[in-house]
Amino acid sequence: MFLYSTQDKTIRKPFHEAVFNSLPADRGLYMPVEIPALDPFFIRTLSQYSLPEIALEVSANLLGNAIPRPDLKKLVEEAINFDAPLRLLDHGTAVLELFHGPSLAFKDFGARFMSRVMGYLAAKEAEDKPLLDVLVATSGDTGGAVALGFLGVAGTRVTILYPKGKVSPVQEAQLTTLGHNIRALEVDGSFDDCQRLVKTAFNDPELRSTLRLTSANSINIARLIPQTFYYFYAYAQLRMQGLSEVVFVVPSGNFGNVCAGLLAWKMGLPVRHFVAATNVNDTIPRFLTDGHYEVRPAVPTLSNAMDVADPSNWVRIWDLFDGDAVALKERLSARSYSDDQTRQAIQALYDQHRYVACPHTAIAWQAAKDYSQKHPGEYATVFLSTAHPCKFPDVLTAAQLDQAGTPKQVLELEGRPTQKIPLSTDFDAFKTFLLT
Ligand SMILES: *Cc1c(COP(=O)(O)O)cnc(C)c1O
Repeated sequence: MFLYSTQDKTIRKPFHEAVFNSLPADRGLYMPVEIPALDPFFIRTLSQYSLPEIALEVSANLLGNAIPRPDLKKLVEEAINFDAPLRLLDHGTAVLELFHGPSLAFKDFGARFMSRVMGYLAAKEAEDKPLLDVLVATSGDTGGAVALGFLGVAGTRVTILYPKGKVSPVQEAQLTTLGHNIRALEVDGSFDDCQRLVKTAFNDPELRSTLRLTSANSINIARLIPQTFYYFYAYAQLRMQGLSEVVFVVPSGNFGNVCAGLLAWKMGLPVRHFVAATNVNDTIPRFLTDGHYEVRPAVPTLSNAMDVADPSNWVRIWDLFDGDAVALKERLSARSYSDDQTRQAIQALYDQHRYVACPHTAIAWQAAKDYSQKHPGEYATVFLSTAHPCKFPDVLTAAQLDQAGTPKQVLELEGRPTQKIPLSTDFDAFKTFLLT
């Protein structure tokens, strides 16, 4: 597999380089040079395959010979070891639950696959080289998925920096109770301070020459690829229900999830249309309406994982369509919802279907309803559920929380000893820690 940069399409980088560097030097994003179509017979018979089997076919199709198939099979089976069930709410509407992984959010797909790919490639490149040191700054959720993703992956060591007092108790427990190859640093500062420390480390010549540093950046191509798997698996489950025409509705912030859906479509998955559902951070809905890409300051909302003003994956989507706005709008539309509408959607979903959804998911359900009302036809709308509702206790009623229950992933954290290392915002202290 080779990748080019969205800034310079003449660039050709092998997969491992894109994985370890996350970003090309020109600050574009990596995109596959080739997105081969899958065998139509495989697509027609999708419902005979399990999720890990689908994951193997789809990743092998994209990766080519970057990872030999027997190794890829092992890696996929370790990474995708939890289900993504499709639940029908009524005849034409279904929810694809992507929150059954260890951090209870869909980011587990990307984080678990990427961690295993990195561990595998690092060991292949040079067995005698030191550990792969993964540095991550987090404001909460992403760090948990990454830490859990790398937990126990041989040859890797993860250092997570998070701002003291600014992450939720469950999020903090996810970072600090793991131990083994995961180290949690509680920084006496803001998320921006954490990010600055990590960036400075990557630019420090001494650290660069002594350690094998890499980031687990959210725009890494190895996080995007596994997010295509569940679109195929959703379609497989729809076919078992006798449905074959589908519109996917995706709660969107950085637009990685919906970008993966479009990649799946490029590989031959029959999808009628995609709807990106956002909160009031509506740069893309506005762009698709009036053609102006205008970034306004990000506004905090109930669906905080989507509080993104300038979605980083948008350049990838634009690139997939070669800048053809007409073709793009035929395949993708976008809708934006306020916090009031989000609360109403959570309640309506509960009243009408006894289904409890997190704020991000509720926005997608509302967008699915609004889309199908405007576009009558014979198709199913599948909205993606990106996080378990128990992660948002402040937004849900007691009855809703009760019904959502407490998954074993949370129960297991209780009472576990925590390990965290306090750190100031001083770079030299961080550097000394990394070197000793
Ligand atoms: C990250 C996240 C999103 C947004 O996904 P993107 O790929 O950034 O568009 C939506 N919901 C939840 C719960 C998330 O964690």
